[in-house]
Amino acid sequence: MSQQPSDQPDPTRRGALGVAAAAVAGVAIAPGIHLIEVAQARPAGEPASKSVRWGMLIDASRCESGCDACVSACNRENALNSAVEPRQKPQWIRKITLHEVKTDRKVNLPMMCQHCAEPPCVDVCPTGASFKRADGLVLVDRHLCIGCRYCMMACPYKARSFVHEPLTAQNPAVPRGKGCVESCTMCVHRIDQGGTPACVEACAREGHAAILFGDLNDPNSAIARKVHDVATTQVRADLRLDPGVRYQGL
Ligand code: SF4
Ligand code: SF4
Repeated sequence: MSQQPSDQPDPTRRGALGVAAAAVAGVAIAPGIHLIEVAQARPAGEPASKSVRWGMLIDASRCESGCDACVSACNRENALNSAVEPRQKPQWIRKITLHEVKTDRKVNLPMMCQHCAEPPCVDVCPTGASFKRADGLVLVDRHLCIGCRYCMMACPYKARSFVHEPLTAQNPAVPRGKGCVESCTMCVHRIDQGGTPACVEACAREGHAAILFGDLNDPNSAIARKVHDVATTQVRADLRLDPGVRYQGL
């Protein structure tokens, strides 16, 4: 799939969900670096391309204490509160605070599925329900998931949730099911339509612009150029899972 120069969004790439993206497309985090990059819509029937690797770069220094706009947006987008009586709410993204005891420095950051290039959740899945797409997104096929939860145990980021209860009022674009395990899809349903993840848009709308989304494989993309230019961290890089979600300011 050919990529357009990413800092000059082409209106034809915005897709059905591009209107919301356009509302915050002007947010820049540095000269020439725009927060919202609009993915190229994937034509119906065309498989995901391995020339693309979707990723996020999260600037912890911009992530405000007490703000949960990304979490709320994820819950709304994916209808995560739609259980009849949510005793154990699925959580695809959560805010955490890192506290360095020696210096008393505290850093806030959102944590979600890191979309590992070498995902242990996929390795341990006995049915093939956990799988990695060619473009790096790690997903669960709910029709194949038997709810064994091996993947939950294998994930070092505690990124996965089990659906305990019947669900109501689902987003038709995000089918879910009782008895399945699930996690952040990076809003694959939006990306495939040329949109951006809901958390990215919500964070920009709040004025924090802490999450940069784009194609890590495209040297012209804002995210690839930022990863090239500034020091970034992969959480638990020692595990060599090569997460597609990176952080700066940790
Ligand atoms: Fe799998 Fe966890 Fe990595 Fe996501 S963060 S790809 S669920 S191991
Ligand atoms: Fe695979 Fe589902 Fe078991 Fe996870 S819970 S390992 S996705 S079958």
